[in-house]
Amino acid sequence: MINLKNLRGMVDLLPAHTQGWQKVESIALEHFRRAGLQEIRTPIIEQTELFSRVIGENTDVVGKEMYSFDDRGGRSCTLRPEGTASVARSIVQHGLLNNGPQRLWYRGPMFRYERPQAGRQRQFHQIGVEFVGLASVMSDAEVISIAWNFLKDVGLNDLTLEINSLGSNEDRNIFKEELKDWLNQRFDLLDEDSQKRINVNPLRILDSKNKSTRELLSDAPSLNDFLSNESKTRFDYLQELLVNLKIPYEINFNLVRGLDYYSHTAFEITSDHLGSQATVCGGGRYDGLISELGGPQTPSIGWAIGMERLIILAGNKILQSKSPDVYVIHKGEKAEKLALEVTCQLRLSNLIIELDYSGSSFSKQFKRADKSRAKWALVIGEDEASKGQLLMKKLRDKQKDEVSREYIFSKEDLDELIKKLID
Ligand code: ATP
Ligand code: MG
Repeated sequence: MINLKNLRGMVDLLPAHTQGWQKVESIALEHFRRAGLQEIRTPIIEQTELFSRVIGENTDVVGKEMYSFDDRGGRSCTLRPEGTASVARSIVQHGLLNNGPQRLWYRGPMFRYERPQAGRQRQFHQIGVEFVGLASVMSDAEVISIAWNFLKDVGLNDLTLEINSLGSNEDRNIFKEELKDWLNQRFDLLDEDSQKRINVNPLRILDSKNKSTRELLSDAPSLNDFLSNESKTRFDYLQELLVNLKIPYEINFNLVRGLDYYSHTAFEITSDHLGSQATVCGGGRYDGLISELGGPQTPSIGWAIGMERLIILAGNKILQSKSPDVYVIHKGEKAEKLALEVTCQLRLSNLIIELDYSGSSFSKQFKRADKSRAKWALVIGEDEASKGQLLMKKLRDKQKDEVSREYIFSKEDLDELIKKLID
């Protein structure tokens, strides 16, 4: 017997869940609209080189997690593991910066070959923002505020914003050498993964999840002590702006983020309710990225939110489907015709209409109407149909003293019917 199933870590988003996703996405879109952001859509597949160059050969994403394959022409292609690299490529390729700074958003599936667990999938979805061509610390604060306000608006409380400064490339290079020396002196005490990273990506060891490595690191040199005065001033000003915006934050000197392209501001928004996959939003400044792709030196900052984790946090409330305004009950051939006609007409007035298809008895159809949690039932029998009449019955929100509320309308008086339905 054929038994085809989805691939591990690639998840079907079933109808019971899509309305919740749409709701969250529409809140995001509203926040982006108010902030004057424009959407960009790039292909899901890119040349492998884009990611290895931009994200960095020695990162987990490029080293272990990419879905790469040769196409029929022998080119190495990769399913995008994140959005920023493609957005930056597209900006450079189409010279978008000639029109001035770009304030963009994107959404879509991303692919990483990871061990699937709650809040971690192989195909997952991100919604993200990129401000490209803005150097001011104000843009760091604005970008963070867009993420923060959006998450709050979705109804998430108990969020923690963690920030850090990774300094300039220069600051970081000096620090890297110091850290390498310090780690090499304690090589035997490190976990195996961290031992492998010392020479290729020592900063990543700082956010190791290994418990004994974490304990050891509490005495390690801190990047913060290696920041130039300029970098420090920047970081202080960011904090001042966040205080001013009443966005609470914590400083986490070990927050380095997984990708190579960050500098200065790095931030994450986490929640205690996500277990070990605690980060719902990650972002930072990437001033070197556009020039790495052959564009001009362009200061930039952005973030990405993991939709699956966001939906887990938003909980069942957001996933509930909207119930119909009207459930249309009908019996008989003439009634069926009228029912379909009225259904289509009412939908043009923005009402949510569910049409019964069971053909069963009125009482059974009423039971279905009740189950759908519709506010009204529109009832059309052969009798009504031949008179061109519609009977409307209120199913919910009845006043205490009324048994039921019924109205009879002529087919021509749909406007009056709609008025009744809307108040
Ligand atoms: P993590 O440390 O959890 O692996 P990350 O640093 O790799 O996260 P980013 O590359 O910063 O993640 O991506 C931004 C956001 O995308 C994350 O904060 C998370 O919400 C989400 N995300 C990343 N990888 C996955 C995944 N495999 N499944 C679901 N969501 C993910
Ligand atoms: Mg990861």
